Amino acid sequence: MIPGAFAYHRPTSVREAVGLLAQWGDDGRALAGGHSLIPMMKLRLATPGHLVDLAGIAELKGVRTDGGDIVIGAMTTQHELVGSDLLATKIPILREASLQIADPQVRYLGTLGGNVANGDPGNDMPAVMMCLGASYHVAGKGGERRIAAREFYQGAYFTALETGDVLTAVRIPAPAAGHGYAYEKLKRKIGDYATAAAAVVLTMSGGRVASCSIGLTNVAETPLWAEEAGKILLGSALDQATVKRAVAAAEAITAPATDARGPAQYRTKMAGVMLARALNRAKARAGG
Ligand SMILES: Cc1cc2nc3c(=O)[nH]c(=O)nc-3n(C[C@H](O)[C@H](O)[C@H](O)COP(=O)(O)OP(=O)(O)OC[C@H]3O[C@@H](n4cnc5c(N)ncnc54)[C@H](O)[C@@H]3O)c2cc1C
Repeated sequence: MIPGAFAYHRPTSVREAVGLLAQWGDDGRALAGGHSLIPMMKLRLATPGHLVDLAGIAELKGVRTDGGDIVIGAMTTQHELVGSDLLATKIPILREASLQIADPQVRYLGTLGGNVANGDPGNDMPAVMMCLGASYHVAGKGGERRIAAREFYQGAYFTALETGDVLTAVRIPAPAAGHGYAYEKLKRKIGDYATAAAAVVLTMSGGRVASCSIGLTNVAETPLWAEEAGKILLGSALDQATVKRAVAAAEAITAPATDARGPAQYRTKMAGVMLARALNRAKARAGG
């Protein structure tokens, strides 16, 4: 299957890209790795008349520190996330989650910006970003702004991005040294989207949970931040009874679709199982 006809534009600056997207309005679309957009175009689920390829914009690439934050350019590929020494040291959950996205071929082209901007509840990075308290840098007609990942997702394929916006970077406050983390993903086979997945970042002090943040993938129309579940765990030693209560709180906010990955009730339960496993592994990895 081939996509419908479109005009191709290759700007070399964010300013130029924003200008082009503003010019074409709803008929224009940013192109990053193309691994979500091109399949949608082949299926006629997206029919943009103008593609604005972000690949020629050098300022959208790379990983850097900025004070206590790590800033990752939107066009940084998932493969580059896996290979980054800085990320491996500061935010290792990104490597763990990236390695569970599709296969090496997809990761060579698929970008972090495309993954978080897409709005597909099946994408793995959005829940990880909610878990980490990340924010997105956005450039648009009205200038630049930042949007918290926890406020970005509004529905399946609906985000806080407006027509003409380019997501330029992802800013993540580096978790405390010695934090524990895990991304647990249930999938039907290698390369599949999640049936359910859970991201956990926590810190321990004196054997008790000092902070805990939880994100859930593909168990609702949007990725979920399980705030209440994280709160329940605070001060606990992650004993079985408290984990059970937290898992129940996380399951309660899910509303998955019944689809080829299983009935809704099963996917909710699997979100709970993934969360319990992620908590276990995060605890084992945490210092303190
Ligand atoms: C076989 C296969 C398996 C996959 N499995 C998984 C998986 O298990 N987990 C997972 O998370 N993903 C998976 N993916 C999706 C993959 O990770 C995509 O690469 C990713 O979701 C989108 O990134 P992209 O760079 O390819 O974006 P594109 O496909 O180019 O763009 C996606 C959407 O985001 C918009 N966009 C892209 N970049 C920007 C930007 N900087 N600013 C504003 N809008 C932008 C585009 O306009 C488009 O609407 C899979 C893909 C394939 C083909």
